[in-house]
Amino acid sequence: MRSNSSVAENYSDRNVFAMDTFMTIRAYGDNCEEALQSAEEKIKYLESIFSVTIEGSDINKINNSHGNAVEISPETSEILGEAVKICGETDGALDITLYPVLNSWGFTSDDFRIPEPKEITELLEYVNYSKICVNGRNVTIPDGFQLDLGAVAKGYTSDAVADILRENGVESAVINLGGNIRTFGEKPDGSLWKIAVRDPFDTENDMCVIETREASVVTSGNYERFFEDTDGQRYWHILDPLDGFPADNGLVSVTVIGESGLYCDALSTALFVMGEDMAVDFWRKNQDFDMILVTDLHKILYTDGIEDCFENFTEMPAEVIRRD
Ligand code: AMP
Ligand code: MG
Repeated sequence: MRSNSSVAENYSDRNVFAMDTFMTIRAYGDNCEEALQSAEEKIKYLESIFSVTIEGSDINKINNSHGNAVEISPETSEILGEAVKICGETDGALDITLYPVLNSWGFTSDDFRIPEPKEITELLEYVNYSKICVNGRNVTIPDGFQLDLGAVAKGYTSDAVADILRENGVESAVINLGGNIRTFGEKPDGSLWKIAVRDPFDTENDMCVIETREASVVTSGNYERFFEDTDGQRYWHILDPLDGFPADNGLVSVTVIGESGLYCDALSTALFVMGEDMAVDFWRKNQDFDMILVTDLHKILYTDGIEDCFENFTEMPAEVIRRD
C-alpha cells in the first residue's frame, strides 16, 4: 500500500535559453526527459518563427514583405490572430505594430537613444494593429509596417509547452519563462503552487507570493528593460502607442493571473500601458483574470479573486479591488 504521509518530490529540470530569456521547466514524475526534450525543441522552433531578428522567421519575412502577402506557419497564424483580437479588446493599449517606434528608441538593439518627438510622430503613422490582415496561413501588413511579438510570445510559448508536456504524459509542471510563469496540473503533494512576484522597487527581492491551482502568472514591469539619461531619468521598454513614449500612467508593475499564458502576457503589457484607473475598469468589465498592480506611489492593488491567497512581504500598503 502506498503511504501518503510524505510524497517524495520527484522531478526533472530543464534549462533553456531562448527568446532572450533564461527559461526553466520543472516537470514532476518519472521519465520526464523525453517530454522535456520535446518542450525544448518546441521552444526553439517557436523562437525561430516568432523572432523579429532571425533571418527567415515568419515575423522577419512579414516585416520585409513591402505590403505583399506572406505565407506563415499555423502557430504564427494563431498567435497573430489572438494578439490582434486583444489589441482590439484593449483599445490599442496593446499594439503589436509598434516595432518601428521601439526600434527608434533602441529597445530592439540596445543602442538606446531618445528620439526627437517629430521622428516619433512620423513613425506612429506606421503603427495600427487594425491594418494587420490575417487570413488563414496568409498575412498582409501595409508597406512600412513592422510587427513585434515581444509582448505575447512567451505567454503563447508557455501554453504550447504545457500542451506538449501534457501530451507526453507529464501530469504536473512549472514552466518559468522569466517573469512569465505557468503551472499545470496539481502539485504532487496536493498543496497549491506558490508563485512569487518581484518587488519592482527592489528587484533582487520578492514583493509577494500568491498560492494558486493551475494558472498563468505574468508580470510586466518598468524595471525589466530600461536605460537612463544623464539626469537619471528612466526610459523603459513598454511604450504607449498613443504617443510612442514609455508608458508612464502611474504603474511600475502589473501581474496578471489567469488561465491562458497568451492572454495574461498580452494583458500584463496592455494594463501597464492603461494605468490604474483604466486597468481597474477593464478588470471590472471582463472579470476573467486577476491582477496585482503596483503604482509609482508605492501602493499595491490586487483583485478580490486572489484575496485569500495573497501574501505581501513589503511595507507597501496593499488594497483589495472588488467587483461591484
Ligand atoms: P512584456 O514584457 O510582455 O510586457 O512585453 C514588452 C515587450 O513588448 C517590449 O519589449 C516590446 O518588444 C513590446 N512592446 C512594448 N510596448 C508595447 C505595446 N504597447 N504593445 C505591444 N507590444 C509592446
Ligand atoms: Mg506581455
